[in-house]
Amino acid sequence: MSRFLFILAMVLACFGVSATAQGFGALARVEAEARITDKGQGLDVNLPLSQGVPWRLYTLDVPRRVVLDFREVDWSGLPLDFDRAEAALSVRTGGFRPGWSRMVIELGRPLSVAEAGMRVDPVTNKAHLNLRLTPTDPESFALAAGAPHDPRWDLPPPAVVVPKRKPDGPFLVVIDPGHGGIDPGAEREGLNEKSLMLTFAKELTEELRRAGLEVVLTRDEDEFVSLVGRVAIAHEVRADLFLSLHADALSEGQATGTTLHLLSRSASDEATALLAERHDRDDLLSGVDLTGQDDEVASILMDLARAETEPRAEALAKTLLGSIKKDGLPLAKRSFRRGAFSVLKAADIPSILIEVGFMSSPRDLANLRDAAWRARLAGAIRSGILQWIETDQARAPMVRQ
Ligand SMILES: [Zn+2]
Repeated sequence: MSRFLFILAMVLACFGVSATAQGFGALARVEAEARITDKGQGLDVNLPLSQGVPWRLYTLDVPRRVVLDFREVDWSGLPLDFDRAEAALSVRTGGFRPGWSRMVIELGRPLSVAEAGMRVDPVTNKAHLNLRLTPTDPESFALAAGAPHDPRWDLPPPAVVVPKRKPDGPFLVVIDPGHGGIDPGAEREGLNEKSLMLTFAKELTEELRRAGLEVVLTRDEDEFVSLVGRVAIAHEVRADLFLSLHADALSEGQATGTTLHLLSRSASDEATALLAERHDRDDLLSGVDLTGQDDEVASILMDLARAETEPRAEALAKTLLGSIKKDGLPLAKRSFRRGAFSVLKAADIPSILIEVGFMSSPRDLANLRDAAWRARLAGAIRSGILQWIETDQARAPMVRQ
C-alpha cells in the first residue's frame, strides 16, 4: 500500500509542471539534393531540410553506426540514390516515436565525427545539416560510442518517472487543426474544413507565440494524422493544454456560432477503461509509463489524473466563452457541450475542441473566410487562455500539495 501511495504522489506531483519541449511544430522535409558520399576514407552527409529542426547526433558500437535524431522530419523526399558511399553499409530512416524521427547510418569502418552542424537560413528558414566523418581506430570508436542522456530525447525508463521539466519553462499549447490529408472534413462552396482549420491554426499559433506561449501543431500541412496520433503528440511534448479546431457542417438545423466541446463523463470513463487495457500504455500520461502497472492501477492513476484535469478544462471553457462573448463574437445557442471525442481523451492534459463555426451556416462561412474576423477570434482565444493560466496557476499549489 505504501508503495502504491508513493506512486500516486509521484504521479500527482508531475501534473501541471510546464514544458521544456521546443517550439517546433512543423514537419521538416528532406530536400532532393540530400546525399551521403565517400570523402577519402571518411564520409560526408549532406541533408538539406525545408526548415531547421532540433536534432542530435551520436554513435553506437556493435554494429558501428551513426544515429541522427530529429524533431520531426518527413523522409518521403529522400532520393533513392541518397546513399552513394562505400563507407556506409546501409541507411535506415523512420519515426522512432510520435513526433520524432531518426536516421541510422551503419558504418563499414570506424569513423569519428570531425564536423557536424546545421545552418539555418535566417530569411528562408531552410536548413542544411552537414556531417563529416573521418577514420579512427576501433578502440577510440568504442570509447566515444553511446547514446547521450538527455531527458528531452530519451524515452522514459519503464517505471513511474517524474519528468524533469523546468518549473519556470514556457507554457506549451498543442493546437490540433482538425482533419487533413485524405480526410477533408466539411466541404462547402469549394472550401474544406481541413484547410480552413490549418490556416486558422497557424494564425492562432502566431497570436499565442506573440503572447509568450509555446505552440506545437499536430500537423502543419495537409496530411492525415490519426486521432490517437494527435493525442500522442500532446503527450510527447508534454503539453499543458490541447486545443482541437474544427468547423463542421450540420445537415439539419441552423447551428451557427462558436461552440466549445469537452469530453463527456461517460466517454471519459469508457476511455479510461479502454485505454487502461492497452498494452502499449507508455503514452497515456505524460512522463508516466504505465506499461508495468496492472489494469486496475493504470485505471486508478488515469482516474486521478482526470479528476484533476476535468475541472481545469471546464474552467478554461468558461473563461474562453466569456472572452469570446466579451469581444462580441457570435456564440452558438448551446455554446458549451460535452461529447465522446477521441481527440479529447488525454487524461492529464486539459483538452477542448473548438467548433470555430459551422461551414453549413452562411454567416459562419463568411466569418471563417474573413481574415479580420479570424484575427478577432484568435485574439479572444489568446486572452481567454492567458486569463485561465493565471487563475489555474494560482489554484495549482492548493490542489497539488
Ligand atoms: Zn471537423
